[in-house]
Amino acid sequence: MSKNTMKEWVDSSDIIPLRTFIANVFFIGKTSVRGDFVLVDAGTLFSSSLILKTAEKLYGRGSQPRAIVLTHGHFDHTGALSRLLKVWSVPVYAHELELPYLTGMKNYMRPDPTVGGGIMSLLSPVYPHRGMNISNHVKPLPGDNRIPELPEWRWIHTPGHTDGHISLFRDKDRALISGDAFITVKQESLLSVLTERPEPHGPPAYFTTDWRAAKRSVEKIHALHPSVVFPGHGMSVDGEVLSQFLDRLVQEFDQIAIPKHGRYVSQ
Ligand SMILES: [Zn+2]
Repeated sequence: MSKNTMKEWVDSSDIIPLRTFIANVFFIGKTSVRGDFVLVDAGTLFSSSLILKTAEKLYGRGSQPRAIVLTHGHFDHTGALSRLLKVWSVPVYAHELELPYLTGMKNYMRPDPTVGGGIMSLLSPVYPHRGMNISNHVKPLPGDNRIPELPEWRWIHTPGHTDGHISLFRDKDRALISGDAFITVKQESLLSVLTERPEPHGPPAYFTTDWRAAKRSVEKIHALHPSVVFPGHGMSVDGEVLSQFLDRLVQEFDQIAIPKHGRYVSQ
C-alpha cells in the first residue's frame, strides 16, 4: 500500500496497518465508529506515542481500544505495551503458551546471530529476549478460537516462531493477520527491511526455535486461502501475488525459510 492511497485505505477498510520502525501493528475497527477498535500487537520500544497519536487520529480524542491482541510476545511486538497500558486500561490477549513470557515466568531463547546472513541477524544478540510482566492485564485467549472483542475473527495457532504464536483470520473476507508466521520481507537483511519490496518469507530466523512447527503453520495459513495477508513485518499482499507467495513458500519452505545451519535448526 503506497502512502497516497492511505486515506482511501482508511476510508474503505477496517484493518489499518501502522509501521513502528521494524514491525507492524494493526488497528481493527471502522474509523467512522468513534473509539471502537482493537489493537493487534504493540510495536517496538519508543513507539507508544506514535500508536497513541494514530489511535486518536483514527478513532477520536481519548479513545482506547476494546482490547489488545498479541500475535506473540517478542520485543518488537510488545515494545510499547507497558507505556500503552499506563494510558489505556484494557485487557491484553495472548495464547496460553505465550503467557509465561508475559507474566515474568520465562525468557525467550536467545536470538541466533548466525542465521539469515544479514545485519539484522548479526545485531540480534542486542534484541531483548527477556519476558515481560504484564500479569495485571494479560489474559489467555479463549479455548474456542474466538476473541470476545472481535466477534468476526478467530485466532489460529501458528507456532514455530514461538510456542504460543497466533494469527487472526476473518472468514467473511478471508483477511489474515499473520504475525511473524509468514512475513513479506527478509527480516534478517537490513536492506530488505528498509526497502520493503514484498517477497515471501518464513518467520525471522534469528528468533525461530521450532522449524518443523513453523512449516506446519505456513501450511495451515496456505490452506485457509486468505485473500489478503497483513504480516508483522513487511507490506500487506493480496490476490494472485499472495497465492503465488504462499504456494512458493509451502513448496520451497526448506530452501526459503530454514537456515542451512544454526543453533535451533536441528531441534
Ligand atoms: Zn517475533
